[in-house]
Amino acid sequence: MITDAFRLDGKVALITGASKGIGAGIATAFAEMGANIALVARSEEELQAVAVAVEALGVAALPLTCDITSDTDINMALEQLRSRFGRLDILINNAGGPGKGYGSLEDVDRARFDHTLNINLSSAYSLTHLALPLLKAADHATIVNISSALAWMVDKHFAAYGAAKAGMEQMTRILAYELAPDIRVNAVAPGAIETPSTAFITQNPALLESTTRWIPQGRIGQPQDIALAALYLASPASAFVSGKILEVDGGMAALPGSAIEGRLSQNTGR
Ligand code: NAP
Repeated sequence: MITDAFRLDGKVALITGASKGIGAGIATAFAEMGANIALVARSEEELQAVAVAVEALGVAALPLTCDITSDTDINMALEQLRSRFGRLDILINNAGGPGKGYGSLEDVDRARFDHTLNINLSSAYSLTHLALPLLKAADHATIVNISSALAWMVDKHFAAYGAAKAGMEQMTRILAYELAPDIRVNAVAPGAIETPSTAFITQNPALLESTTRWIPQGRIGQPQDIALAALYLASPASAFVSGKILEVDGGMAALPGSAIEGRLSQNTGR
């Protein structure tokens, strides 16, 4: 069956930011396709809840309390993964967000800028670096980085976040070349997706309406929309695809940047 190419039976996937939102959506989708899941986040309680949902799908879940900005934490998490599963086939660098670097050039100093670079870009680089021996030992491992439409879209106050995600996209292309043909590296660039981090939009009808107006598909995305794209890129279904950025944003990429500029800041009043 052609759909067998999307199966992940027996594989082990490590997903950062797996305790909620997009990461939790990817975790349950991959579990449904047969993968055992290592779940990374800082909050133990929230991780446990996702672990229960993953195990209910008949695969193993390993919750790993870990701050991805700490190499010590990452090494401890990878050690636990090694002793539980002995392998790593899929790495999903998903944890991140605008962080402390959200704000105007006037307000955001180097420490705040670096915080955003760190949670989105440097931590993803470091986890990939430290997990490389495990990924190399796998049979055709895959890496999927979760970027953002803000990597290309112009909006005020996102200089740090936009720079971090644009950096993540170029890192994706370069590592795909460096690690070929054994390991494939791709990214998904989501538009607006309904998660705890966008509750300020989805729980405000006026803001939701004005956000949706710019999305040709006429709706905000769901974690499942990103999980399906990540599944394609992480599975053998995309065996001939590497170094690519898959935009999953309801068609927003068709709009000129000028139509979007300043929209988020104006809408949120932040
Ligand atoms: P979210 O709901 O805020 O969840 C973020 C996840 O990352 C949580 O599991 C959080 O758990 C974890 N996390 C944050 N900092 C961490 C750290 N230092 N170490 C380990 N885990 C950490 O975010 P989301 O909306 O699902 O977004 C997920 C990814 O998609 C992010 O990279 C974001 O930039 C990107 N994205 C989202 C949207 C959107 O509209 N939602 C759009 C474009 C791109 P703990 O707090 O417990 O650590």
